Amino acid sequence: MNENKTNINWYPGHMAKTKRNISDTISMVDIVIELVDARIPYSSRIPDLAKTTRNKQNIIVFNKYDLCDQVETNKWIEKYKSECAIVVTCNSKTSNDYKKIINEVDTLMKDVNKKRMSKGLLPKKAKCLVVGVPNVGKSTLINKLAGKSITHVGNKPGVTKQMNVIKINNQMDLVDTPGILWPKFETTLVANNLASMTIIKEEVLTVENIAIHILEMLSKYYPNILKKEFGIDSYNNDEIEECFEKISKFKNIPIKGEVDYERVSLVIINSIKQEKIKGITFDRI
Ligand code: GDP
Repeated sequence: MNENKTNINWYPGHMAKTKRNISDTISMVDIVIELVDARIPYSSRIPDLAKTTRNKQNIIVFNKYDLCDQVETNKWIEKYKSECAIVVTCNSKTSNDYKKIINEVDTLMKDVNKKRMSKGLLPKKAKCLVVGVPNVGKSTLINKLAGKSITHVGNKPGVTKQMNVIKINNQMDLVDTPGILWPKFETTLVANNLASMTIIKEEVLTVENIAIHILEMLSKYYPNILKKEFGIDSYNNDEIEECFEKISKFKNIPIKGEVDYERVSLVIINSIKQEKIKGITFDRI
């Protein structure tokens, strides 16, 4: 990741507020469930999460695993595991992968409760907090974990700070508001990757720039997808006009005088957003 540094400043106000909110509840949390987008397992991580969550035990969930290039993403999984992280792959939308998270929570709590018992304390239920960047699937996962029987346990007497929790099972509760955190834009590559997966919006980078990034990445790593989806063999920045014109024709977008760059760009962005393009991973080890 040695691309240029960016000077994009991403909603510092929101960031500070969320961090304060997390700080207020974190002392009552046992386990942080950190979601990343499996297509960009590096770019979608929150760099200083451990600081915000005061080094709580965490489980990294590679969500949207159904949309990634598993060969490339598995290299990131191995890397994070080698750094002692607990990693779970998950398709929150259409699978029961969420059960793997429940299992990991159970395993972690067994150790905690063993220690408690040895000190003569009663076993405790895991209180978990789901955190992640926008659009990574936090609400979808929480709904899956909670199933139909969402029980708001609410404030418990004796607990000084307010924390609404959702009962998952007898061993696990979930803090009911996910922690939405914003990623750091370390580099233009990270910012472009985040925009490609609709984690940051077009208000930060222009639609044309995001579309060009997607074309560049597909050309570099997935030329077959580029050909199938957009009708071009490769993309390079010296041929922007030519490529956009070809894509416009391939997608039957009318050319009135000149190519409608914005419309073509939106079609490119939407092809990822609407999951027409699958099997891609943009972060590389
Ligand atoms: P949040 O902003 O983090 O709460 O994200 P949401 O739960 O609202 O999810 C954002 C979008 O991603 C929605 O369209 C979900 O249906 C979709 N989504 C969430 N998890 C998955 C997943 O594992 N696989 C796929 N394909 N889509 C997912």
